[in-house]
Amino acid sequence: MARADGLLTDQIDPTEKAQDECGVFGVFAPGEEVAKLVYFGLYALQHRGQESAGIAASNGSQILVYRDMGLVSQVFSESDLETLPGHLAVGHTRYSTTGSSTWANAQPTLGPTPFGTVALAHNGNLTNFAELEALADDRRHMHQETVREATQKEKRTRQFRDSSNDTSLVTELLASTEGDNLTEAALELFPKLTGAFSLVFMEENRLYAARDPWGVRPLSLGRLEHGWVVASETAALDIVGASFVRDVEPGELIVIDEEGLRSHRFADPTPARCVFEYVYLSRPDSVLEGKTVHAARTEMGRELAREYPVEADLVIATPESGTPAAVGYAEESGIPYGQGLMKNAYVGRTFIQPTQTIRQLGIRLKLNPLRENIEGKRLVVVDDSIVRGNTQRALVRMLREAGAKEIHIRISSPPVKWPCFYGIDFASRAELIANGLNTDEICQSLGADSLGYISMDGMIKATQQKPAELCTACFSGTYPIPLPDNI
Ligand code: SF4
Repeated sequence: MARADGLLTDQIDPTEKAQDECGVFGVFAPGEEVAKLVYFGLYALQHRGQESAGIAASNGSQILVYRDMGLVSQVFSESDLETLPGHLAVGHTRYSTTGSSTWANAQPTLGPTPFGTVALAHNGNLTNFAELEALADDRRHMHQETVREATQKEKRTRQFRDSSNDTSLVTELLASTEGDNLTEAALELFPKLTGAFSLVFMEENRLYAARDPWGVRPLSLGRLEHGWVVASETAALDIVGASFVRDVEPGELIVIDEEGLRSHRFADPTPARCVFEYVYLSRPDSVLEGKTVHAARTEMGRELAREYPVEADLVIATPESGTPAAVGYAEESGIPYGQGLMKNAYVGRTFIQPTQTIRQLGIRLKLNPLRENIEGKRLVVVDDSIVRGNTQRALVRMLREAGAKEIHIRISSPPVKWPCFYGIDFASRAELIANGLNTDEICQSLGADSLGYISMDGMIKATQQKPAELCTACFSGTYPIPLPDNI
């Protein structure tokens, strides 16, 4: 069944990859067509969320927002972008984590505050959502009491949230936080937020960017000739011609307006950056903490070859995400790298309901084997991760049918055994194949001749980051940010 966002369900699209949750982008650039800059920035971040897309733009006195379900290319036409004039804008691509996949939960969210209208886009997931809801409830109650006692003239118009996501909750809390301006309210509120948040938001004349004290999700700052850009990944800076300045620091709030850029700190940094950004989530051409994601992935492949060597004729990748690690494996092992699978890149991006015949094709809809490269060969098949194992099982069957003599699966991350509460949607713990089975049993379940996962140390070494500054919870079960008791 096709979902309203244009993605197919796993009945037909069993890639069952971890789903990233959002991409955020903001620009302050007088004289530029900012909505178009955001459009291209979101295009570069499309892999981070494909359920909905939105842009809010301001001309200095009024913020307009346009958002809808679907891919960036499906949501905006050129004429839509022309209805969003102004010199600052924020944009968002969404994969839902907290809050269901509905139009009302599309972002940027728009809400009134005593300081002006705020449009806000969020990448991450707040783990103290219930606590924050209770705080908002208390404040709503207090506000109603105040309003009841106030004269009609003193009443403030107030719009309650029309959506269930944590982003609109943040907007509501910003509106009810003490402060003389939005900067003061943000500096007061953000220390109360727990979990992962890379926020890009704006009022009529000012652009803001903030990153949680753990720096779980990336957020980078770039410079245009006459302005500034903030984006989830550096690849999105490149596409609009912005030069990379630096990452937004964990615990930092950046404010940009016509007077320039100011940096504030709302918490001391305690880095726990998501290691899965290096493994799969970020684009290979993005740079995280000074390290190109592509280089980290290639090194993971080299390390995998050192840890799990095997005699084989050809190294192939599960396209596209397994490709850099497959190249690294081939380089280190001396086994030739070649193409064994062709990807039908756009099949997962249709609104058309598949027929039963099409649905039965399963993985073949996405990947087609190159029989002449595979037949009679001992293959090393490199992928970035295994979640449920259904994709790899179907892949092994397909490669055997195409004539592969042996199939050795190599995975450039350790077994995924734990769910993520910081904004990445894996399967539930019970559905994770590595939760109940050891490596030999998984290998047997997939029908492969051998299976090797990179070690935790090997993966971390390839990122060139300090182990203590990375979140590895989905592999290790050690969660660096407190979780509520009822999880
Ligand atoms: S649990 Fe895994 S996916 Fe989630 S933030 Fe930590 S490393 Fe990333």
